[in-house]
Amino acid sequence: MALTNISREDIELLVDTYNHRHLDAINFISKFFYGEVQATMSEITEFDENFLVISSVSLTEKKDHKFEFLQKIKTSEEFQNNLILLLIQAREKAPSSEPLTNIEKEIEKTKNLDTYFTKVKSKKVISKNIVEITFQGGLESLPNFGNDAFLYFIVSEEKNFIFPSDFSMTTFRSLKASETSTSLNGAYYTIRRKRADEIDVWFVLHSDPGPLADWAEKCDAGSNVAVWGPRSSFNPPKDIDQYVFIADETAQPAVLSCIENLNGKKYIGIFETKNKQYEYDLKGISDCIKWIYRDDFVEQSEDLVNEIVSLVQKADNTYIFGAGEGKRMLTLRRVLKEAGFSTKETNLIGYWKK
Ligand SMILES: Cc1cc2nc3c(=O)[nH]c(=O)nc-3n(C[C@H](O)[C@H](O)[C@H](O)COP(=O)(O)OP(=O)(O)OC[C@H]3O[C@@H](n4cnc5c(N)ncnc54)[C@H](O)[C@@H]3O)c2cc1C
Repeated sequence: MALTNISREDIELLVDTYNHRHLDAINFISKFFYGEVQATMSEITEFDENFLVISSVSLTEKKDHKFEFLQKIKTSEEFQNNLILLLIQAREKAPSSEPLTNIEKEIEKTKNLDTYFTKVKSKKVISKNIVEITFQGGLESLPNFGNDAFLYFIVSEEKNFIFPSDFSMTTFRSLKASETSTSLNGAYYTIRRKRADEIDVWFVLHSDPGPLADWAEKCDAGSNVAVWGPRSSFNPPKDIDQYVFIADETAQPAVLSCIENLNGKKYIGIFETKNKQYEYDLKGISDCIKWIYRDDFVEQSEDLVNEIVSLVQKADNTYIFGAGEGKRMLTLRRVLKEAGFSTKETNLIGYWKK
């Protein structure tokens, strides 16, 4: 069966993410799996339900390498599994002195993450579509990275659900993989603030809520959650003179935490929201944040992205960090590249998919 349009779009987003944020892994595959030691640039240029193509460019030539999947793929997860398989095979052929790629470091880190059990303490309205939930208890040993540190939240549709004491992320994954019916659902959320045994998290509420947004709207004090993490993606090079942050509502908690840790470095924030009524109090930093409103743009993807990019000045030692809807991030990466920003200067992450 051919890929559905939805799966094809999901894989396009994934390929764009690999070509921008995980180029070290693609170069590593090209060098050690395909033996392209002279290659200066490699990227995924084509895919289908049966294969993917990695093009390796050296000073003298460009070569395409086709990797046939063992089984036809149907989803972006299956596509990613094949990429990881390629990476594992490249690693087996590489000298042991070769450093880990970022994705391998990520995989290593996730092996050591813990699951914590905590409860809703209180809820507070931040804006027309953001609610802050404070969780208390069980969090004393949760590491505090600051910046964009994020956790995987697992919640239940049952009101008084209690997690078994041996429950972990592994239990959750096998429940989901086995397709047995479960009241549990999960998604990633950012730690907006951490105190000794408490965290504040901003949940975006939207018109077509998924299980987590729905839970956030309805939960009461005392509701149990399990969280797994934390991890972080904000990793700018040293000696950055100016930061540009681009964020829709889901990424604003991450960006606000990053801004609080900048120690006086120069920055601008470009914050997307629905319209003026959805703004909230930026507590003393409003001069550095420019709001832009989705409602002002009919052709959202292109026009809104062009508006964002018009606010970004090209200057030396600039680092652009941001996150939001997957396709919007894909268009932004492309337009910023056309405006002269290299992949090393940008880190734009798809936080959710329309
Ligand atoms: C590292 C990371 C950190 C994140 N931090 C935060 C955070 O701090 N706060 C936060 O609110 N989100 C955050 N997100 C995004 C959040 O994980 C997604 O929005 C997730 O899809 C919510 O799960 P759900 O069960 O509500 O919806 P899903 O079941 O995933 O989706 C159901 C429907 O809701 C739509 N949808 C999902 N999110 C949105 C949205 N924001 N606006 C409009 N429609 C949407 C989908 O398109 C789909 O139609 C983060 C994501 C990542 C990867």
